[in-house]
Amino acid sequence: MDGQNKKAKILAATTPEEIDIAVMEAANLLRNGEVVALPTETVYGLAANALNPQAVEKIFKTKGRPSNNPLIVHISNLDMAKRCVKQWNNAAQRLADNFWPGPLTIVLPKSEIIPGIVTGGGDTVGIRYPAHTVIQLVIERCGFPLAAPSANISNRVSATTAAHVFKQLGDKIALIVDGGACRVGIESTVFDLTSNPPRVLRPGIIHEESINAVLSGLKIQIEKGLNQKTLRSPGLLKKHYSPLAKLICLQWQNENELKEKLAALGCKPSLTSILCFSDPPSKLGKVTMMPKQAVSYARAIYAELHNCDEAGARWIIVQTPPDSPEWRAIHDRLRRAAAE
Ligand code: AMP
Ligand code: MG
Repeated sequence: MDGQNKKAKILAATTPEEIDIAVMEAANLLRNGEVVALPTETVYGLAANALNPQAVEKIFKTKGRPSNNPLIVHISNLDMAKRCVKQWNNAAQRLADNFWPGPLTIVLPKSEIIPGIVTGGGDTVGIRYPAHTVIQLVIERCGFPLAAPSANISNRVSATTAAHVFKQLGDKIALIVDGGACRVGIESTVFDLTSNPPRVLRPGIIHEESINAVLSGLKIQIEKGLNQKTLRSPGLLKKHYSPLAKLICLQWQNENELKEKLAALGCKPSLTSILCFSDPPSKLGKVTMMPKQAVSYARAIYAELHNCDEAGARWIIVQTPPDSPEWRAIHDRLRRAAAE
């Protein structure tokens, strides 16, 4: 953004009239090669014209994002998706039929129209059709796809409200469109159709088992679980999604056990926030009860991490969630938020 000390304008986009105005303003800026923060159903995105390398460069600069970390390209219809890739195939069609619009990114070989800066220099592109009216209308109005990573400073906790975006990027961008709190709350599942066998690169709310079920008729067997090679691929950094406070996952049977564990870790109760869903301690730290369902937990977790930072916590203790497929994406985010 030009000039110093300017703050982003936040435009509400709830009523049809507000949506009309916000979509028009956002599309005008995007057509001029600017970046705009937009709501999606996963997390807020920092969007730019995916076909304009100078515009895309502004995303990397604004976030402080390493250039080898590829961006997801957001589309608003299947024709647009097909123009972004070298070859559309049956598996992609099946996934699109079942999960789009929605929180699934499909990685395919990129077409000529996608500049290398979007893909971290690679020859594959991640495509997603988001399920949020506002970004869909903006893409339709622009007529070009939008490259959009999460709207946060690189490696920090993703934004799930316009206020979160404002706090991290308010003095770096001109416009934030406020489409309400994100319904999914964590980033999309990234599924790579270019590897053999195809595999999940980043777990999300659409899990491996659901993808397998949808592709099984095509006799496609996907690779089970994340492996070492996957974890080293660009963007899947060990440390990511990090709050300012130190995050530690713990299990406990009773308050005494938790007290001993906190003491051993050197956590001062007055500066400790505890996110739990059972056995809340009564005399230790600032306790927040989290939802017991994985889908609701995912919707809440980033906002709670933002709250803990806001409250000045030095330590965030997260009660370790259950170990079943629907919790896999949450374990992944917590593990990376806790990494040193
Ligand atoms: P973000 O937009 O910040 O949620 O990050 C997008 C993530 O999607 C990246 O960090 C990668 O992990 C993944 N991704 C996007 N495009 C590709 C691609 N072409 N190949 C592999 N992973 C990708
Ligand atoms: Mg991100």
